[in-house]
Amino acid sequence: MKIIDAVIDALYPRRCASCQEITIDGGVLCIDCAEKLERVKTPICIECGNFVKECECDTFIYHFDGIVAPFKNKGVTKDMVYNFKFHKDYSAVDYIVENMAKSIADSYDDVNFDFISFVPKFKKEFNQCEILSKRLSRILNIPLKTNSLIKTKANQVQHNISLNERFGNVQDAYRACENLKGQTVLLVDDIKTTGATLNECAKELKFSGAKKVYCVTALIR
Ligand SMILES: [Zn+2]
Ligand SMILES: [Zn+2]
Repeated sequence: MKIIDAVIDALYPRRCASCQEITIDGGVLCIDCAEKLERVKTPICIECGNFVKECECDTFIYHFDGIVAPFKNKGVTKDMVYNFKFHKDYSAVDYIVENMAKSIADSYDDVNFDFISFVPKFKKEFNQCEILSKRLSRILNIPLKTNSLIKTKANQVQHNISLNERFGNVQDAYRACENLKGQTVLLVDDIKTTGATLNECAKELKFSGAKKVYCVTALIR
C-alpha cells in the first residue's frame, strides 16, 4: 500500500455499507454483516420472481420474460441498497453491481441483449437505477440507452402504498420513446416487491416493439 493510501484510510476509515461501523479490513461489509448477508437462493420462479411456492404466473400476466436478483429485500442487503438509494452512500455500489452481473450471467447465459434500459424517474431526480445500469453496461459490455423509457407522471412513491394499490398506481406512468422492433432488453430496477413497476415498464417496451424484456434487480422480495 502506498503511504498516501494509508493516510487516506486512517483519515477516512471505510465504514460498513450496512451498519456503518468501521470495517477492520477495509471491506464493503463488516464481519458481522458479511455473515448475515441475505442471498437469494433458489428455488425462485424466474418468470415472476416470486418464491416458487408463491408463484403467480398462473393468476397474473407478467409482460417481462424473466427476473433475477442476487439479494433478498431484508437485513444487511436491504440496508446496503437503501443506504445507496436514500442516502447516496456509494460504498457498496460496485459490490451490488458485481452481484447483479453474476445473477445475469447465471440465469441469462443464453440471452443476447441489445441494450440496457432502467426504470426512469420523473424529471431530474437522483436515479439509483441509472447508476446501477451505467456500471452494469460497463461490466457486461452491453450498450445503455438512457432515454428508451420516460416517466410521464409523478405518481405516489410505491413503497408508501399498500401492495394491492401498487399496480394501479404505476398504470400509464411510463412510456417507451422509440421503435424497439425485435430488440431484447435488459431492464434494471433496484428492488422488486410486487413487480408492478417492472411490469408496466416491460409492457411499454413491448408495446414499442421489444421482443423480449428480462429484468434484473439488486433486491427481491
Ligand atoms: Zn456491518
Ligand atoms: Zn412464477
